[in-house]
Amino acid sequence: MSVRTWKKIITLFVLLLILTTTATTVFFAVKYSKLNDKYTQIINNENLVDLSDYGIENRDELTELICRIENLDQIKADGSLEYQKQYSSLYVENDFNFVETGDKKICYLTFDDGPAPEVTECVLDILKKYDVKATFFVLYKDGSEERKLYQRMIDEGHTIGVHSASHDYSKIYSSVDAFLADFNRCAAQIEEVIGVKPEIFRFPGGSINSYNESIYQQLIAEMLRRGYTYYDWNVSGNDATGYYMSADDIADQVLSSSGSNRNIVLLHDGRGHDATAEALPAIIEGMMKQGYEFGALDNSVVPICFGY
Ligand code: ZN
Repeated sequence: MSVRTWKKIITLFVLLLILTTTATTVFFAVKYSKLNDKYTQIINNENLVDLSDYGIENRDELTELICRIENLDQIKADGSLEYQKQYSSLYVENDFNFVETGDKKICYLTFDDGPAPEVTECVLDILKKYDVKATFFVLYKDGSEERKLYQRMIDEGHTIGVHSASHDYSKIYSSVDAFLADFNRCAAQIEEVIGVKPEIFRFPGGSINSYNESIYQQLIAEMLRRGYTYYDWNVSGNDATGYYMSADDIADQVLSSSGSNRNIVLLHDGRGHDATAEALPAIIEGMMKQGYEFGALDNSVVPICFGY
């Protein structure tokens, strides 16, 4: 071959190389700028993130999106961290295929801190009367009455999610391992009673709170890695703030803060929450008047998470 031909081949090769590099750079720049847009939106959202607004495509993206973890590679997949080697049964099959519900108005009533026989029975009776399905984020309870209530929740079409065994914030949020130990105890108890693994949960105090600030990213990443979906809330009855709330106050609080297409309502059915049970008929009727249907959460429902 002549020198000219060689020159031509080399020029062509260099051009091709430049083209490929540019294309790759542009591809990743676009991909990351899209993710960055999402981060920015979330960072700027001081209150809540309805993940249905963000078009999440897979678990890694969800994890990255929620946690904004820079060393995600270390945390996410390989299971090499010490706490990732623990609790080998604490996994659920979950592809994170969320079902979008569009403009449909849906209200998910959720009850934390139960079961407490005197309150939870009343709540279940009211839900049954209105044929409304709800979600219970339960505590570990070993009494025979409480065990019956776990079963009744399932028999009547509600969802049980994990809340906590000890509900002791400073203990469970002292490390990822401490959280997993507590979670595992509660999840195992539920599974033993109802015969199926709970797949969703609610962090005591919400996914980020003053107790878990230093570990919440690792914690959320680890729980998502294990296949569990968590739900914060965008409507609250303010029935566990420490201040007295009458049944009317609770109902007013819920109904006046309802408004988005998807309401995830925080209520409590632990001991002493009689006013919440008393408020329930007004809450249900009020939501119906506002045009909401009711649903129980499961891991196909797009989470609403605190924005941070
Ligand atoms: Zn709680």
